[in-house]
Amino acid sequence: MPNCPKCGLPLDICVCKTLEKIKVGVESRSYGKVVTIIEGIENCEEIIGELKRKLACGGTIKNKKIELQGNHKEKIKKVLASLGYSEENIEIV
Ligand SMILES: [Zn+2]
Repeated sequence: MPNCPKCGLPLDICVCKTLEKIKVGVESRSYGKVVTIIEGIENCEEIIGELKRKLACGGTIKNKKIELQGNHKEKIKKVLASLGYSEENIEIV
């Protein structure tokens, strides 16, 4: 288990992620593609795999933002909550 880059505690006991303010937006791209952008998550690299698996979609990280293919506004709160993030801190824009 790696340590949190913010507080240095092992990630399973660190509470930083419950305090992170997360913004989720949906953007239209060329050729009618839609992506869901998740902003404000410190450990993008660690959770993107889980997000892709749980939402059954593709995704990448760009400029510390997670980009998931498709519109996942409906499910994203529940999925992030299941990963330990606090639903009150997730803003859908
Ligand atoms: Zn921490």
